[in-house]
Amino acid sequence: MVGDGVKLRPGTRVAIEGNLFCGECEWCKAGRHNICPFSGQLGQRTDGGLAQFVAAPEYCCIPYADELPVEQAALAEPLSVAVRAVRRGGIGLGSRVGVVGGGTIGLLTAQVARIAGADTVLLVEPHPGRRALASSFGAAVAVTPDEAEAAAGPATGGHGLDVVLDCAGARAATPLAIRLTRRGGRTVLVAIYPGDLTFDPLDFLGSEKELVASMSHSYTSDYPDAVRLLETGRVDVRPLITDRVALPDVVKAGFEALVAEPQNHLKVVVDPRQPDA
Ligand SMILES: [Zn+2]
Repeated sequence: MVGDGVKLRPGTRVAIEGNLFCGECEWCKAGRHNICPFSGQLGQRTDGGLAQFVAAPEYCCIPYADELPVEQAALAEPLSVAVRAVRRGGIGLGSRVGVVGGGTIGLLTAQVARIAGADTVLLVEPHPGRRALASSFGAAVAVTPDEAEAAAGPATGGHGLDVVLDCAGARAATPLAIRLTRRGGRTVLVAIYPGDLTFDPLDFLGSEKELVASMSHSYTSDYPDAVRLLETGRVDVRPLITDRVALPDVVKAGFEALVAEPQNHLKVVVDPRQPDA
């Protein structure tokens, strides 16, 4: 159903972009809604999607083609994070790219980097099961963190990595991403972890590297572009979906399973349409 004044027709299939913002501050007015200081998310400041129905503002609702299966459309949000990360990295034709962390965001970022024109993508990931997925997501080489620094040169014909994106969410990953970045290159912070970042500023200054952050996604460009990438089949999210659970099973088969064995799950799709068990 739709509220008063909403232009979307009832029954339209939409992917929900969950970022909320004020629309009034200088960042919102500049189109940078993702860094609005009054931002929030559906499920954070409001009721969320772990329910049969959820109310979302119209601007959060991006219609998508009927041919796109609903469980793939559900991954438009993480894909939009990858789209923004690639944009913040300035990745283009011929870029040599490193991705630290082979979870959902890292694997999608590898795939989007290739679509953006990256020549080579090197994926750094400790878990062998996730490294095994790398080639399906456009990464030519997948190595462990211990192997990464030695692998960057040979993987790029001696050029080095122009852009390295930290998608790991682990303390050791960011310094590694910075070290992996070639002189004059760019490191992009995509993942989140608590605590301080330690690196050698002298090494950083001497090589004139750039360190930039990529926060979530923009609802006006990154998110609609992610939906289009899914509709056109240019990004295949199916290998990321490791679990499908009904809403009543979400705690046991979703959250608890993920906490118990994080390496064995990537995306858990929760289907609110299934009948109560
Ligand atoms: Zn704002």
